[in-house]
Amino acid sequence: MAKQYDFLVIGGGSGGIAAAKRAAGHGAKTAVIEAGRIGGTCVNRGCVPKKVMWNAALIADVLHDAKDYGFELELERFDWSTIKQARDAYISRLNKIYHRGLEVSGVEEIGGVAVFQDPHTIVVNGEALTAEHILIATGSHPDVPDVAGAELGITSDGFFELETQPQRVLVVGAGYIAVEFSGLLNALGSEVCMLLRGEAFLRRFDSTLRETLMEQMQEAGVSIVAFRQLQRVQENGNGTLGVHTDSGETIAGFDRLIWAIGRSANTAGLQLARSGVVTNAQGDIEVDEYQNTNVPGIYAVGDVTGRWMLTPVAIAAGRRLGDRLFGGQPQARLEYENIPTVIFSHPPIGTVGISEDDARELYGQGSVKVYQTRFTNMFHAVTKRKPATVMKLVTVGTQEKIVGCHVIGAQADEMIQGLAVAVKMGATKRDLDNTVAIHPTSAEELVLMR
Ligand code: FAD
Ligand code: NDP
Repeated sequence: MAKQYDFLVIGGGSGGIAAAKRAAGHGAKTAVIEAGRIGGTCVNRGCVPKKVMWNAALIADVLHDAKDYGFELELERFDWSTIKQARDAYISRLNKIYHRGLEVSGVEEIGGVAVFQDPHTIVVNGEALTAEHILIATGSHPDVPDVAGAELGITSDGFFELETQPQRVLVVGAGYIAVEFSGLLNALGSEVCMLLRGEAFLRRFDSTLRETLMEQMQEAGVSIVAFRQLQRVQENGNGTLGVHTDSGETIAGFDRLIWAIGRSANTAGLQLARSGVVTNAQGDIEVDEYQNTNVPGIYAVGDVTGRWMLTPVAIAAGRRLGDRLFGGQPQARLEYENIPTVIFSHPPIGTVGISEDDARELYGQGSVKVYQTRFTNMFHAVTKRKPATVMKLVTVGTQEKIVGCHVIGAQADEMIQGLAVAVKMGATKRDLDNTVAIHPTSAEELVLMR
């Protein structure tokens, strides 16, 4: 006899855990099945270890600027292994906190790989489990291109396993991970080259953000090679890596190559066909606005759906689903509009809403008014390094409703959350004008733009 549950969740990452805890809180008999380490990508090989490394890079920047503030410091070296060990220990602590969190929430945790037997039955470690409601929250994995020698490179997963700091790194890709890793490695002293297949990185973001970041990264010493399709990777005699591009050139001398070219849904091992759930052309599980798949009783949240691959999105969608299925809230669903996001680049980017280009296309040239400012953060008034801060508000209509807010510069990561609330509430430029500034900060410029 199969063991019965109200709710079975496949995947103990951000989305799965959030949904399971919420459902159990409403009294549903719930289990989470996790094949690897509890916490999923974010905790073990994503946001958390990345943010630790980004913090290390921030310290490097501050140390660099410290002498301009009068500090006389002799820096010997940065020891990668110290922070790697501390980071790993922190993640182990988090794993324990996550296990305990499930336990106190009344969620059963099952270690193993879940496979569908039929639309309501999952098999784990040879045991059948059934439920009326099943959630697929299996996340995604990093893509590796189909080129000769691709196995010589590492992905973000491999990056977090590195025991020593790479000295000369080639980063291939043009999204979040490419700019984040390139920025932090450069700040920590590695020599970094980025290879882009197009003209620029962060193509989906407002042009001001990517242009400013491009300029700031190049100024900080990152070499950016655009318009190159990589054709093959090879190991040279001295153990270094080189790549051949479609323009016939060879770029060589790297001790690491990092693939940062996107991620694909984890569905391969699920035996999805037995459930009847279908995937789209990209391999993602398609869901409607309530996270329903094409099969009644089977849902999906998070990266596996291919939309907004962000931890808070997976969590919010999971919680709303728990509320809808077990909390008597039939309309609960995540609104996917105005999702704020931060890119932990150097300098960081905080953004919410749509880009200026998208606004002009959507609302027409005449109804869009843009406010923009560029300045040097007061922290850098006395330093030789003068990274810029740039802010842009995209407004529409006579009311000047804010449909996009884009910030790049120190602390942009901490600024955007509050602005996201305002944008979500339908704030207008006038609302910002009517808000008293906080001085002296960078954030005050958000309410002072003319
Ligand atoms: P996951 O967290 O990946 O969880 C899925 C889980 O399912 C995994 O633990 C996996 O082992 C398990 N699983 C898969 N198949 C099975 C199976 N058949 N049976 C049992 N278990 C299975 N997002 C942010 O918001 N901010 C950031 O700063 C940020 N930084 C990132 C940095 C990096 C380097 C990366 C790679 C990602 C980052 N993200 C960030 C994205 C974020 O990590 C993901 O969007 C988030 O983890 C997705 O959650 P999820 O629940 O969909 O999947
Ligand atoms: P992204 O989707 O952000 O970017 C990948 C980019 O790589 C593409 O946009 C594409 O850019 C380029 N690319 C794709 N294929 C190739 C190829 N064959 N050769 C060269 N370039 C290629 O993916 P990431 O891997 O950076 O990150 C995955 C997701 O994880 C992100 O989308 C984000 O949702 C999440 N994440 C979030 C973070 C955060 O919140 N701070 C941090 C890290 C990850 P183009 O088409 O312009 O060439």
